[in-house]
Amino acid sequence: MCPHCKAEISAPESAARSNDIVCPKCETRLEVAPGSRTISSICGLAAGAIVWRLSSGSTSDLGGVLPTLYAFLAFGIVSPLVLMLTANLRNAPAVPAPEPAHAASPAGHSAGGHGAPHH
Ligand SMILES: [Zn+2]
Repeated sequence: MCPHCKAEISAPESAARSNDIVCPKCETRLEVAPGSRTISSICGLAAGAIVWRLSSGSTSDLGGVLPTLYAFLAFGIVSPLVLMLTANLRNAPAVPAPEPAHAASPAGHSAGGHGAPHH
């Protein structure tokens, strides 16, 4: 949801490209608010921890490897899912535009014409 013009922005897109989103309607640069990423990371970690505990308690043969793998998968699945659900888009800070005025000297005063003025 674009905070500027309220246009819908698909959640998967905002989750996948959370640092560089441009509203398709008003072309405002957007980004996912940092809180959403923190929440999604915490939920992913929690899910990973839960899965790790469950699987490490029940496994017999591959006890050392599988819980870690499951935990990793859980984190990889849950974290982006939560990010999709909770993502708050906000206006991104304006792109530092290249200074147009200062580089080229103004048209009125010709800088190069007279050479150095004497005092
Ligand atoms: Zn917009």
